[in-house]
Amino acid sequence: MAGFVAPLDRLIQEFDKLPGIARKNAQRLAFHIINMDEKQVENFANAIIQAKKNIRICSVCQNISDNEICSICSDKTRDESIICVVEEAKDVFAFEKLNEYKGTYHVLHGLISPMDRKGPDDIKIKELLARIAKGNIKEVIMATNPTVEGEATAMYISKLLKPMGITVSRLAYGIPVGGDLEYADEVTLLRALEGRNKF
Ligand SMILES: [Zn+2]
Repeated sequence: MAGFVAPLDRLIQEFDKLPGIARKNAQRLAFHIINMDEKQVENFANAIIQAKKNIRICSVCQNISDNEICSICSDKTRDESIICVVEEAKDVFAFEKLNEYKGTYHVLHGLISPMDRKGPDDIKIKELLARIAKGNIKEVIMATNPTVEGEATAMYISKLLKPMGITVSRLAYGIPVGGDLEYADEVTLLRALEGRNKF
């Protein structure tokens, strides 16, 4: 890009790669950074590096964690017989904010999407099946977003689970089709959870 010195240009390009940041905002953020004092910049850069270094995937539910097993999976007061299946780790936070759901989660890290060449093996379905095969699971709640891919993924997984004799349910539609769990207000999300339907 013309007009900026190389290091600034590089910083703008990095911000530009982030989701939801338009070119103009990338420039604004880059200028903000170069105007910060050195210590602040160091703290910011370290926070990014440490977050990436210390955050791992929970070996049970695949949620982001700072331990081998996340705080939800290791919480003995949670009901391990119910698994709420979500697309991304941020959806877990949306449910946890409700302070209502006491089961566990399973994070798929994506959805089946033929358009993006993402098949069942590209998301954490195998890990879900392995968890269920260990037994003691009564219900699986499919809480993927109500998008085409979200629906298709929920359908695909429910077909795999039904022969295993597990109740599979789907969030009730208070969430608008094409909507995002992350942005559903808490009342809507709670209603969707409480009013879930059997598949
Ligand atoms: Zn976990």
